[in-house]
Amino acid sequence: MHELSIVASVVDSVTESLEAYPGARVQEVRLRVGALAGVVVDSLEFCWGIATEGTVLEGSRLVIKTVPIVMHCEPCGADVELEGVQSFRCPMCGEACCDLRQGRELEIDSIEIEDGIKTERAAHEKARETA
Ligand SMILES: [Zn+2]
Repeated sequence: MHELSIVASVVDSVTESLEAYPGARVQEVRLRVGALAGVVVDSLEFCWGIATEGTVLEGSRLVIKTVPIVMHCEPCGADVELEGVQSFRCPMCGEACCDLRQGRELEIDSIEIEDGIKTERAAHEKARETA
């Protein structure tokens, strides 16, 4: 399953970053998932329990934050948020947009470990290779 391999790579990445905190257990992992990332959020949540079993992430929560699609509209000279994947036209002027600025994200936003320390991760660290 596509989602399972994504979740597995997130687990790997979190496990690696926890090497600096021996004995720490993960409470919560927050992911940023773009509307165009091509993953089913429910499946990610379903796979989480399986993929974290026997790891330092076992029993942790997966919190998914959906990132809306943002494109840059030339005529408006602005970044515009699209309402869905059905229409790739600027909601202000109707121009077809092709300059995607946001919406393909699939990255770790933050990790919370047992003692309450929140580990902010680099926003652009990718949690997967290529889909
Ligand atoms: Zn426009």
